[in-house]
Amino acid sequence: MEIILAQPRGFCAGVVRAIEIVEQALDLYGPPVYVIHEIVHNQRVLEDLSNRGAIFTENLDSIPPDSVAIFSAHGVSRTIIEQAEQHHLRMIDATCPLVAKVHLQAQKYARKGLDVVIIGHSGHPEVEGTRGSIEGTVHVLCTKAEVDALQVNDPQHIAYVTQTTLSIDDTREVLDALQGRFPAIQGPKLKDICYATQNRQLAVRELAGEIDLLLVVGAQNSSNSNRLREVGEKHHIAAYLVQDADDLYESWFKPDMRVGITAGASTPEVLVHRVINRLGKWFECRVREMAGIREVTTFRLPACLLADSYQHSKALRS
Ligand code: SF4
Repeated sequence: MEIILAQPRGFCAGVVRAIEIVEQALDLYGPPVYVIHEIVHNQRVLEDLSNRGAIFTENLDSIPPDSVAIFSAHGVSRTIIEQAEQHHLRMIDATCPLVAKVHLQAQKYARKGLDVVIIGHSGHPEVEGTRGSIEGTVHVLCTKAEVDALQVNDPQHIAYVTQTTLSIDDTREVLDALQGRFPAIQGPKLKDICYATQNRQLAVRELAGEIDLLLVVGAQNSSNSNRLREVGEKHHIAAYLVQDADDLYESWFKPDMRVGITAGASTPEVLVHRVINRLGKWFECRVREMAGIREVTTFRLPACLLADSYQHSKALRS
């Protein structure tokens, strides 16, 4: 069996930053620290952080006053921020800077009195965070049929933003339909789909010509992981989304197969290694990595955390 690893795959800069924020908060303030929603969509990451004292919750009422509360990488609505203020929580925002940029963009459109269309999946935490950060008329949709049915206040005053983890191809179709129906629509082209989502999808697209089967290592509720599986399916390749090696079935594979492996933006590399090891137990495998793009993007930690960290190390030195 030949195993070809997609490049890039796995952790993006927003996920690295979000995990580092929780780890630093635990070091600086001590456990427990509370995290609103799953910090990123991966069970392994959540278990590791839980073991160190992070408590993940959807319910702000369950958090004692004056506790440290971290907002997940997906971003939160204004209501959550206001509730956290009312509960006197010490807020640290781990919203990915690229999601925060979408919030700012959408707020700018709403302030101009435009109807804002969010191209994305209703109910996904990122979309709900973006929806909840806008004061004005908001529509959420992700299909051409929904574009056909869309009713807006004024077709001349409408704008769109997109969820960061969508399929490049599907979004282009929806966007074409929106621009066809509302030629005056304003928006950022496809730029809201983040660099990590695009790079991982493009890598799978490139890999598709060389493989018989695609494994995407990622959580079932991870949007970008599901989109990677869809890219494989669109290229008529059997594609499976697995959380870990234990989700694999030997019957999916044949010894002479070429198997591509990628991982969602919230998947630790150790899970990819576990999948490779499991295949190695069943078949004789050769493993190689495609050339691909090397990512260099990094994001700064929030200023409040950097300041507290500086004071902490200064106190230790004196
Ligand atoms: Fe940020 Fe993109 Fe990673 Fe989401 S997938 S956390 S938007 S870099």
